[in-house]
Amino acid sequence: MAGSATAPGELLLINPFYPKDPWGSFGKHVLTPSLALTSIGGATPHEWRVRVWDENLLQDLPPVDLVPEVVGITVHITFARRAYELARWYRLHGSDVILGGPHVTACPGEAEQHADAIVVGDGVSVWPQVLHDVRHGKLKRRYKGSYRTPEYRASPPPRRDLLDRNCFLTTSSVIATRGCHNRCDFCFLAVDGLDMPYQMRDMQQVINDILVERQPYTVFIDNNLGSNRHFLRRLCAALKPLGTIWSAATSLDVTDDPTLVREMALSGCTGVFVGFESLTNANLVDAGKRTPPPSDYARRVSLLQDSGIQVNGSFVLGFDHDRPNVFERVVAWIEDVRLECATYQILTPYPGTPLYARLKAAGRLLHSNWDLYDTAHCVFRPRHMDPEELEAGYSWCYERTFSPLSVWRRRPRQLGAVPPYLAMTALYKWSNRLWPLLIRHRLVGPAWRPLVRLSRRRHLRLRRRLAAARPSAVLEVTP
Ligand code: SF4
Repeated sequence: MAGSATAPGELLLINPFYPKDPWGSFGKHVLTPSLALTSIGGATPHEWRVRVWDENLLQDLPPVDLVPEVVGITVHITFARRAYELARWYRLHGSDVILGGPHVTACPGEAEQHADAIVVGDGVSVWPQVLHDVRHGKLKRRYKGSYRTPEYRASPPPRRDLLDRNCFLTTSSVIATRGCHNRCDFCFLAVDGLDMPYQMRDMQQVINDILVERQPYTVFIDNNLGSNRHFLRRLCAALKPLGTIWSAATSLDVTDDPTLVREMALSGCTGVFVGFESLTNANLVDAGKRTPPPSDYARRVSLLQDSGIQVNGSFVLGFDHDRPNVFERVVAWIEDVRLECATYQILTPYPGTPLYARLKAAGRLLHSNWDLYDTAHCVFRPRHMDPEELEAGYSWCYERTFSPLSVWRRRPRQLGAVPPYLAMTALYKWSNRLWPLLIRHRLVGPAWRPLVRLSRRRHLRLRRRLAAARPSAVLEVTP
C-alpha cells in the first residue's frame, strides 16, 4: 500500500487518542473542544478542504478512505506514542505529515524523527507558510512559530464549524488571553525556549466568538484569565449584558480585590478552576509560584463561594516538602472549606521545564516512558516517600473526595445550589461507565444541556440579588 495516491488539497487535522485516568472524570475531556486544531483550521488558506478528527470522540479510526495530501497532528506528551503511530501510517501512504503541539516544542529532536516537518512554538503563525511550501515542493524539516509576531489579536478566528457540537458540553470554548504572569517551574509555560509573553486579545473579538456560538455557557480556556485584573474587569463589563454563564481558570489572587469577585459573579461566572497546588508554603516557594499564602486560602475561597462562584481546586502531590501525611491533610482541608470539586495531580516533570532539569541533574528521574508522564503516575523519586506510596495516596485522595460522604460534606451552603451540585457531581464524577456511551453516540451535548440551562437560570436569579445588594454586603447574599 505504501506510496498510494493522495487526494490533493485535502488536509486532515488529528487529535490522537489518550488513555483516561480512571480516577478523573471521563466527562472533562469532552467539556469543550481544544482550540489547537480549530485554530490551525482557521489559519488554513481557503483552497484547502479541512477535516478535523478527534480520536477521543470514539467515532472510529481516523478516515482512511481518502488519503489526505497533508496530515497535521497535535502532540502532547501522554499521547506522543499514538501520534507517532498515526504519523507513520499516513507517511507510509503518501501524505506529508506535520507534527506540532507542546511536546514537539519541548522535544523537537524526538518529534522530527516521526514527521516530514515539525512546527516548534506557535503553529498558527507559520501554518500558511507550511502549506505554501508543501504546494511548491519546498517543505522544510523544521518551522519555528513565534508567539510574539504577528500580534495575537491579528490571529484568524478558529474554525469551530469543523466540530460536531453534539460531542461537547459546549463548543463555546473561548480564549481571551495567552500566557500567565507566573512561571511555576513545573508548568508547560516554563518550557525552555517557549517564549510565550502574556498577551490579551481585542475585547470585541472575544465577545464576537461568544456571540457566534450562541450558547448559554462559555468556557474560557486561558491558562490564567486572572493574570491581568484590569483586563478581567473590562471583560466582565463586556460579558454582563450577554446574560450567559462562564467559567475559567484563574489564579487565587483575583480575590485580592473583592469588588472584582463581585464583577465576575455579576457577569455570569459560575465556577473557577484554581491551582492551589500545595498547602505548604515552602513547596510554592520552591516552585516559584507567586500566590497568596496557604494560611489565607480559606478566606479567599469563601469570598468566591459567597458570590455564588464554585471552586474546583487543583492540588499537586509529591513536592519536596510533602510527607506521607499530605494526602489526609489536603483532603481534610478541602472538606473544611467545602470545595465543590477538586483535581489532583502527581508532580510531573515535563521535559524542558526547570523542574525536569532539576530532577534530572539530581538523578531523581525514574524513566522517560512518556506514556506515564500523565500526572497519575510517579515518574521521579519523591523526597519523603516511595513512588508507590505517592501513587497510592493520589488514588486515595480521589476515592475519598468523591465518596458520597465527602460530596455531601462539601455541599454548597445555599440550599438552592445543592440539587444542581449533586446532579453535576453525579454526571461528572460518578458516571465514568456512562461516558463512553454518551461520547460514542454523540449525546454529550444533549445530556449536559438541561443542567447547563438550570445553572444559568439559577445564576441569573442570584445575579439579580447580588446586583441589588450593597457591594460591601456580598457575603450576605443568599440565593
Ligand atoms: S499560575 Fe498556573 S498557568 Fe501560571 S505558570 Fe503557574 S501553573 Fe502555569
